[in-house]
Amino acid sequence: MSNVIEYYSTNRGAPSVSLDEALLQGQAGDRGLYLPERFPAIGRDELGSWADLRYADIAMNVLRRFTQGVFDDDELRRLCEDAYDFDVPLECVEGRHYLLRLDRGPTASFKDFAARMMARWMSLLMGRLEGELVILTATSGDTGSAVAHAYRGVDRIRVVVLFPVEEVSTRQRKQMTTIGGNVTTLGIDGKFDDCQAIVKQAFADPALSAVRLTSANSINIGRLLPQSVYYVYAYAKLARGGEPIVFSVPSGNFGDMMGAVIARKMGLPIQRTVIATNANDEVPAFLETGRYEKISPSRKCISNAMNVGHPSNLARLVDVYGGWMDETGAIKEMPDLAKMREDLFAVSVSDEQTRATIRDAHERFGVLLEPHGATGWAGLDQFLQTHPDARDQLAVSIETAHPAKFPEEIQATIGVDPTPPPSLEGLEDHEEEYATMSCDYDAFRDWLIAGYT
Ligand SMILES: *Cc1c(COP(=O)(O)O)cnc(C)c1O
Repeated sequence: MSNVIEYYSTNRGAPSVSLDEALLQGQAGDRGLYLPERFPAIGRDELGSWADLRYADIAMNVLRRFTQGVFDDDELRRLCEDAYDFDVPLECVEGRHYLLRLDRGPTASFKDFAARMMARWMSLLMGRLEGELVILTATSGDTGSAVAHAYRGVDRIRVVVLFPVEEVSTRQRKQMTTIGGNVTTLGIDGKFDDCQAIVKQAFADPALSAVRLTSANSINIGRLLPQSVYYVYAYAKLARGGEPIVFSVPSGNFGDMMGAVIARKMGLPIQRTVIATNANDEVPAFLETGRYEKISPSRKCISNAMNVGHPSNLARLVDVYGGWMDETGAIKEMPDLAKMREDLFAVSVSDEQTRATIRDAHERFGVLLEPHGATGWAGLDQFLQTHPDARDQLAVSIETAHPAKFPEEIQATIGVDPTPPPSLEGLEDHEEEYATMSCDYDAFRDWLIAGYT
């Protein structure tokens, strides 16, 4: 079937696979990341006709282009209805500048959008296979709870979440350590990058070949495809007659931003994507200088889910722009930097600027931002300040979490205690359960073999 899309590895040393295999493998055998061999187009007229569709319908229209041959349309439609049963508010801040709030899912961060679809895909795939699947996930704060929630109770799938024990908020921790059942949480005495490195090493470890392991991190292509949908959704709802749009994306591991790249490749008229990082500025520095230097250890910022010193999805971004970066961050072929600078506007936002943005948005517009969304908004503001001709243009900044996930920071900054959505209520009363472990791969491997073989 010519509609079926294959997925290739960015390290170019593993064969291309279909979507089901890419989902179940997570990382390719050569430690590369999967990308679709082509990006199916969404026509301008088609896009123009989606203005009144619900989120679940737009998800169906976008995702079916990637799932042909693996999931049939009826199956996919049912999954979209089931996964996207919450609001996706577009909030006007000023003029034609909007916030897209991706915080109404069950764990109150944008990670729900992808985790809920990917869990449903994997559950269908496991229905066709024997045995058990173990999902290893490193989290900087929000992936863990989104994944734990999405996979809780799924038959023959067990989830192990590794989190940096000192760098997640209490609420973030409680959201993942109170689930139990098929979900196990491990607090690692290290950084998010350490957790991510342990997980990646496990995927490539022959000693673990008896365990069927996959990833629910954004190294899995199953995380990125659903993250292209909300860009299409925002555009379909807001744009007039094919006009260009600017998106601003608060970024850590660059999975969210890859969703925008995929949407653009499908034909969404994204004029510029603002990449807003916190003080972990390795990507803005790379775009400026052409030299890539990881930040190790990563800098601890108030937007904790973006404390990433070596984002795995950078390898994908480099690939899309014609270059080659391996999993260690070594550049084997230079991407088209000039084109990257044309399409992307990368800024690093300090904690001080982030707090000032939370205050400013609250005072001037009555808008409540949390640290990640404030980073994105500050990035958009810098873009507009430096590009006066873009000021009246349609622009959307992504708010990636609910303010009530960060009550301490918001209270300290503007004296407001954000009202938790129903999904975050009552967490205090649940029993927490998690083990702690030093940052040591061998210890982790032994633990995994003991419990999962
Ligand atoms: C994960 C996360 C981010 C960063 O997303 P990436 O895909 O890793 O760039 C931003 N904000 C919040 C709230 C997150 O949980």
